Amino acid sequence: MIALVALSLVAIGAALLVAALVPVRKLVAQLPAGSVRQRWQALRALIVLFVLGYVGYAIAFWRVQAVLADLIVPLVFFGGGCFVWLIAQLSLRTATDMMRVSVLEREVLTDPLTAAFNRRYLERRLGEEVARARRYGFALSVFMIDIDHFKQVNDRFGHQVGDRVLVGTAGIVTEMLRISDMLTRYGGEEFIVVAPHTDLAGATQLAERVRERMEGHDFGWFGAPEAGRSIGITVSAGVAALSEGVDDAQKLIAQADRNLYLAKQRGRNRVVADV
Ligand code: GH3
Ligand code: MG
Ligand code: MG
Repeated sequence: MIALVALSLVAIGAALLVAALVPVRKLVAQLPAGSVRQRWQALRALIVLFVLGYVGYAIAFWRVQAVLADLIVPLVFFGGGCFVWLIAQLSLRTATDMMRVSVLEREVLTDPLTAAFNRRYLERRLGEEVARARRYGFALSVFMIDIDHFKQVNDRFGHQVGDRVLVGTAGIVTEMLRISDMLTRYGGEEFIVVAPHTDLAGATQLAERVRERMEGHDFGWFGAPEAGRSIGITVSAGVAALSEGVDDAQKLIAQADRNLYLAKQRGRNRVVADV
């Protein structure tokens, strides 16, 4: 009787270990290559070893005349099986939840059309960047880009082409930025670039390069009904840098906005950085 109970405990423990291999396999498939995945692979190999150990113990135990105290080890084996199974289930659930949260967070902070960050993220991140720049004495600049006569693009070529111009613009600007820079879609056809560790001259130069690239790019490959037609787009930009008078996020954006307004007034397709 004792032997039967002992063997049942070991068998259930082993079955739970085998069952735990399912969530572990899903976890390994979900995880990106790296040390965490390697550790889960090692754990998977250990589980297989445990199962073999359980089977070996069961075979050895079969020959022994069991007393009540002999149930201790089978109980520990049973508990071990439960433990591993639970941990595997919980880990898979946690990993799945975390992935869902990071996808949601990304969705909450980005613009669905252009994949640039949105205004909500700009407000959060620019505040942090300003605080960091002021504390450590780093330079920090922003520039606001606005597509010239964008309403005409929509009117002439349709809203869909307009959308694609927005996506293309975000792509062109992103390509030109450093990893520490950040592109956000501030409004309809307005973007703001935040450039940490960049002074007014550096940001103006970058904005000017963006302006030139945009001017030289042909957006005319967007298919019907304008296939084959060339679509030229220009942008205006206003630059602002952190300084004594411009010492918070709102003032930075307001200054960039004022300079953008001047760029429009002065004829568009230009960068203004008047301080
Ligand atoms: P300006 O040179 O003075 O900037 O002229 P503009 O025509 O670009 O400026 P305006 O602010 O009058 O027009 C902006 C246009 O952007 C109007 C709006 O229909 C368009 N727009 C805003 N968001 C989107 C969008 O998501 N997709 C498309 N296709 N158009 C958009
Ligand atoms: Mg605008
Ligand atoms: Mg515009």
